[in-house]
Amino acid sequence: MTVTDRSRILSPDSPGHVAGRDAQSANISAGQALAELLRTTLGPKGLDKMLVGTDGKVVVTNDGASMLDRLDIDQPIARVLADVASQQADRVGDGTTTAVVVAGELLAAAEDLLDRGLHPTTIMDGYHHAVQRAVETLENDALVIDASDPERLREVARTVITGKWDASATAFLAARAVETVQAIRDGQTVDFAKITRKTAPGGSVFDTQVFDGLLIDMAESSTDVVSPDPGPPRRIEDATVALVDDQLTIETVTGQGAVTVDSPAQLDAFRAYEDEVYASQVDRIAGVGADVVFCQKSIDDRVRYLLAAEGILAVERTRQDELHKLGRATGARPVASVDELTTAETGQAGVVEQQTAGPHRFTVVRDAEGFDQASLLVRGGTEHVVEEVKRLLDDCFHVLRLVVEEGRVVPGGGATEAHLARVLRDDAASVPRRDQLAIEAFADALDVIPRTLAETAGLDPVDTLLELRTRHHRGERRAGLALDTGTVTDVVDRGVVEPAAVKQRALRSAAEAANLVLRIDDVAAAASPDGDGHGETDHAHGPGELVESTEGYPWAVGHSMSHDHDH
Ligand code: ADP
Ligand code: MG
Repeated sequence: MTVTDRSRILSPDSPGHVAGRDAQSANISAGQALAELLRTTLGPKGLDKMLVGTDGKVVVTNDGASMLDRLDIDQPIARVLADVASQQADRVGDGTTTAVVVAGELLAAAEDLLDRGLHPTTIMDGYHHAVQRAVETLENDALVIDASDPERLREVARTVITGKWDASATAFLAARAVETVQAIRDGQTVDFAKITRKTAPGGSVFDTQVFDGLLIDMAESSTDVVSPDPGPPRRIEDATVALVDDQLTIETVTGQGAVTVDSPAQLDAFRAYEDEVYASQVDRIAGVGADVVFCQKSIDDRVRYLLAAEGILAVERTRQDELHKLGRATGARPVASVDELTTAETGQAGVVEQQTAGPHRFTVVRDAEGFDQASLLVRGGTEHVVEEVKRLLDDCFHVLRLVVEEGRVVPGGGATEAHLARVLRDDAASVPRRDQLAIEAFADALDVIPRTLAETAGLDPVDTLLELRTRHHRGERRAGLALDTGTVTDVVDRGVVEPAAVKQRALRSAAEAANLVLRIDDVAAAASPDGDGHGETDHAHGPGELVESTEGYPWAVGHSMSHDHDH
């Protein structure tokens, strides 16, 4: 939160200083404005927003997390709210819009309560109490599912994706996410380090594939070499693998004129020297019985040719982390220089196979029984599409991990919010009058989820809420809005379920954000030492986290990519 970190607070009489009720009101409106902006994107029928950057970049999205990442939010309070929500996305992979939208409602209700003379602390206490109670209720009332049943997992993944793609792509991608997680899960543990994701623009989303084992890029250049006959086989069984954390070329010599050649004799001598070095490198690799060599840097064409002539597959520019993954999987140890390579450093793989996806070439490395590693090759018409699909699949992985670990889900489609609202309203009766108001306000704020889902689907929000309330009153806890049919029904039967942890986290984030805003009754214009009023937000990710990029969207137009790609 750079708003306070890097700032010098000015004295109370400085211009731009607002205090007390005015400050609160201003902050509350700013928070609500952000919530309102995100609100109509909620759910499968949420509308798209077009974001136009100052640089003219245009992005169309209906994903709350994606929007927050891209919006240039100047207003400090809105920034605070956005940060709370982004943490939500980073931790559990879903529920960002829900968190912001509920926070907006909590702020609106707070404004009203402040007007009625309630002290901010009373409101904050009430909200705190309510969220505790809600989390506890979910703890008790979550549905325990059989997380080993892939269909249950697919339902959860589909709820994450629904609305971002059409129904068939949603079902297809949800199935790929589950296939990946199933391949690497160890009982109730899902270790993201075992998942490799690659993007290969081209083809269609339906060409997205999951591979057993490790998928390694083959640099495009390796196709240019005139291959010797017969060359390395496309598929090698029981392959001996060597890993070289270096280059297989003589850089200083072939490089930028480091050597001046004055005579044909010198040139010959020089060529002879190169041949000798290359031959010895190839001898060394062939000598340890390697069938495939992965090299972290480039491999000279002549070396690759010679290796191919020996039937050895050479893969250059393998990323360092992948070299290490290969090491762990095959038992090979990367050597810093090819001269150090001995049989002790080689490893074994059940199968090494070359694969192609459009113009992209890959090597799949797996064990006879699989390495306990899975790779996902994300395809799609454009770079934007593949990046967005990858991001959605990442969200699915997070959510699936929660379900696999905890095996607990809650009904979606506003059913859980309706249930919690009912519990909280019943509860409010048993607390002192003033606290009661804030708890009831919290319950009412939860209605925003089913109300908005109804609105986006073109249903009458009042009728829908009434029907929901009636059915929950009758004890139908799973009654929610199924948006594929547009009816209030048992949403669990329709497969609209979400991990309990996502909902719990979203409600906590919402209350946390609202309370942060309410706690402030003093806003001063601040000048930061480096003259920059607001700095970058940091989205810290824990080790092994997948979240790394939120770039791209299927309908993004003229939007430049600014981060490293896997591919
Ligand atoms: P968030 O960022 O909060 O995850 P989303 O735009 O993904 O926001 O919308 C999530 C909401 O949409 C949840 O309340 C979820 O239950 C609901 N939802 C998802 N799929 C369906 C569906 N098929 N029918 C009704 N509601 C759905
Ligand atoms: Mg979502």
